Amino acid sequence: HQTVPPSRAELVVDAEAIRQNVALLAETARRSGAATMAVVKADGYGHGALTAANAALAGGARWLGVRSQAEALHLRAGGVTADVLCWLHEPDEDFTEAVRQRVAVSVAAPRTLHSLIAAARRTGLVAHVHLKIDTGLSRNGATGADWPGLVAAAAEAERAGHVVVDAVWSHLACADEPGHPSIDAQAARFDEAWQTARAAGLRPLRHLANSAATLTRPDLHFDLVRPGIACYGLNPVADHTDVRLRPAMTLRSRVVLVKRVAAGEGVSYGLTWTAARDTTLALIPIGYADGVPRLLSGRMSVWLAGARRPIAGRICMDQFVVDCGDDVVEPGDPVVLFGPGDHGEPTATEWADAIGTIDYEIVTGMHRPRGRRIV
Ligand code: PLP
Repeated sequence: HQTVPPSRAELVVDAEAIRQNVALLAETARRSGAATMAVVKADGYGHGALTAANAALAGGARWLGVRSQAEALHLRAGGVTADVLCWLHEPDEDFTEAVRQRVAVSVAAPRTLHSLIAAARRTGLVAHVHLKIDTGLSRNGATGADWPGLVAAAAEAERAGHVVVDAVWSHLACADEPGHPSIDAQAARFDEAWQTARAAGLRPLRHLANSAATLTRPDLHFDLVRPGIACYGLNPVADHTDVRLRPAMTLRSRVVLVKRVAAGEGVSYGLTWTAARDTTLALIPIGYADGVPRLLSGRMSVWLAGARRPIAGRICMDQFVVDCGDDVVEPGDPVVLFGPGDHGEPTATEWADAIGTIDYEIVTGMHRPRGRRIV
């Protein structure tokens, strides 16, 4: 943290940390005979999709998971040849490119299956399908009532040579609350759905486990685990596992102005903070327009000149003020807003806890600082 960032703020992404985290997750999965699909949607949870994808593959991931066909094709354009699954589609999406570029597509409804069959016919290729069952999250996925019909249609399309059903899959609602009764209830419905697919003549793989289930439920690893947040070093079940992950994202800036103010002076909009005594204030040129939540005003510190120093008053659109007391601080001094925490700086998880959200939202929201440096 000694060098001054080249721009007023930058995200430093530690690709080696992602590689190591994925290697730990892949080893955990391997012990139960499962492979790993690293989830790199939302621009690799804010870390850069290609950076995350390449680091994850280097760490032993065999698959990559993304939200959309567009995200999958972005990986292909960047040279990624590994298996990729995408799962959230437009109502009338054309899957020609996905089929042409061997991107597997999640199917939760007949209209997606029909689009895929059309794309297979158009290209003369076979479409790779992961059938998604809604086992209780009530988000994406076919309901239990719609499942037999969807399976029958997919089996017919497979027999006709248009698609191959690679997998049956689902997503858990409460895996980050180990012991929550919904986990076993979803697992039971998942098993039932898989049996239905088998009875229809399909031979799909199974995948269910997100990061939390990868770390706490080896019995639910099946053929493939699907961790996202843990790849980036943020652990949704830190109290329930010995696996130690390393946060991969650091947000840095630097001091642009230092001034001395007298006791009683108010700071920033609304004058919600007042100097209790004469003090030194440092101005940091990053704000809520860059993704620093305004709610952190008065609730967070930054790492500056060897100590945590509180944010004084409200965070503004593109700047905020830090109270440095009587310590010597200079313009140009580096500031760490959050990072892995091992130098004393706050972590993304501390930011999330301070404002009542989850660290997922912090890192995925950090796409705005100018400049992202990959180390
Ligand atoms: N699978 C699906 C379908 C998801 O939507 C996500 C993320 O939300 C994941 C896996 C990864 O979840 P996590 O980041 O909690 O590991």
